[in-house]
Amino acid sequence: MSAGILTPPAVKTPGDYIENVLQTVKAKNPAEPEFHQAVQEVLESLRLVLAKHPEYQSARILERIVEPERVLMFRVPWFDDQGNIQVNRGFRIEMNSAIGPYKGGLRFHPSVNLGILKFLAFEQVFKNSLTTLAMGGGKGGSDFDPKGKSDNEVMRFCQSFMTELWRHIGADTDVPAGDIGVGGREIGFLFGQYKRLANKFTGVLTGKGMAWGGSLIRPEATGYGCVYFASEMLKSRKDSLEGKLCLVSGSGNVSQYTIEKLLDFGAKPVTISDSNGVIYDPDGINRERLAWVMELKNERRGRIREYAERFKNAIFMPTDVKLDHNPLWNIKADCAFPSATQNEITAKDATNLVKNGVKLVAEGANMPSTLEATKLFLDAGILYGPAKAANAGGVATSGLEMAQNSTRLTWTREEVDDRLHKIMIAIHKSCFETAEKYGTPGNLVNGANIAGFLKVANAMLDQGLV
Ligand code: NDP
Repeated sequence: MSAGILTPPAVKTPGDYIENVLQTVKAKNPAEPEFHQAVQEVLESLRLVLAKHPEYQSARILERIVEPERVLMFRVPWFDDQGNIQVNRGFRIEMNSAIGPYKGGLRFHPSVNLGILKFLAFEQVFKNSLTTLAMGGGKGGSDFDPKGKSDNEVMRFCQSFMTELWRHIGADTDVPAGDIGVGGREIGFLFGQYKRLANKFTGVLTGKGMAWGGSLIRPEATGYGCVYFASEMLKSRKDSLEGKLCLVSGSGNVSQYTIEKLLDFGAKPVTISDSNGVIYDPDGINRERLAWVMELKNERRGRIREYAERFKNAIFMPTDVKLDHNPLWNIKADCAFPSATQNEITAKDATNLVKNGVKLVAEGANMPSTLEATKLFLDAGILYGPAKAANAGGVATSGLEMAQNSTRLTWTREEVDDRLHKIMIAIHKSCFETAEKYGTPGNLVNGANIAGFLKVANAMLDQGLV
């Protein structure tokens, strides 16, 4: 490691240094609370590292790692079906390329803004590092809402979005994928426009269709991976998912395949939700009911409340903004798999989960727990799998899709699933062992943050001041 070329740190103790960086992040990036939250969570874990490794402080790694390498922000004009002009805002955050090309999803949701995408890109850097594959971190998207839009409107939007983005991305530069609001349909439209503009058929996006460069298991990977991770967590306490009652939030890609894999492991998922409300099905969401949900969400693009009309014992609880908690997290269960969106588990929700005896929380969504909720889980000593480790299976399998594209080969379903499973076991082992090594056994938040950080920070030291 060549750390000696930089100026000495302005502050002395690691604690002061971290506090100083955090205050600067808040001052320089006002009105980005999600970004502050993600940075704070990582930096707090790094206290333990900086005490042992002053070289990161002398090389000002923290100031550098919180600053995106590049931020792109652009206008996305498009015509709706009535011929009216619509204008959205597009983004791509190229956060860190120390260990590989930028890699991370695109989110299309009305809540998207710069701060949300910066938090996601920052998380992605550490997550990608944990996967054992060579991928840097990025994230992008738009405040476009695909809900209620026709296929033609979604296509026109995607084409306009890619008309700007294509010049910034590439199979060895930056490889976007899906996220909230961006599934197979959107990736198809984006890929088609990229190919037309670049005149190249390359693995520039992941999550592609099987006939044109996609990987088997990529759609399933985040949900499957999260359940593999949960199974490893339970094994560390000589327990298993067999017979466990499970709460799952959301009803999109991650939730659907979390439920499918939970069923494979003999668990009983009893909830599912969308932004309009929560379904509680005491009979359990079995394979037949899951197939019905997939058809509802992926084909008909309907609302989850219809589940209660179709299956008789199921209860629908509409979203009530006046309520101080989410009723989904107040149902007695063994395990919780938040799989919808950021900060969906507040301190009150975490208190309810712990009070009801939850044994495990494995995060399918990105940063679904607030800082206070995370602290409550850690203090309660339950098994807590933070997002950047537990949901890394999606991007890991994107990495496997890139490997297949580079070699122009296609692996079987079993081969990809086996690699995914081994990667999730390796991520758990790395987080578990790192937590122990740094004096906080069982704390997978510290384990994930530190293990993810070390690889990236060392690469940054090796590559000099860039
Ligand atoms: P989808 O768009 O497929 O599904 C999102 C689900 O979450 C929908 O049911 C949606 O309901 C619900 N949801 C979204 N926003 C809100 C909100 N503000 N309040 C309540 N419910 C909400 O997205 P994914 O399943 O792909 O992503 C879910 C989470 O997993 C995100 O945090 C994403 O970043 C994370 N993730 C996804 C990966 C992937 O491979 N897809 C990889 C790693 C993490 P509604 O339809 O009503 O909006």
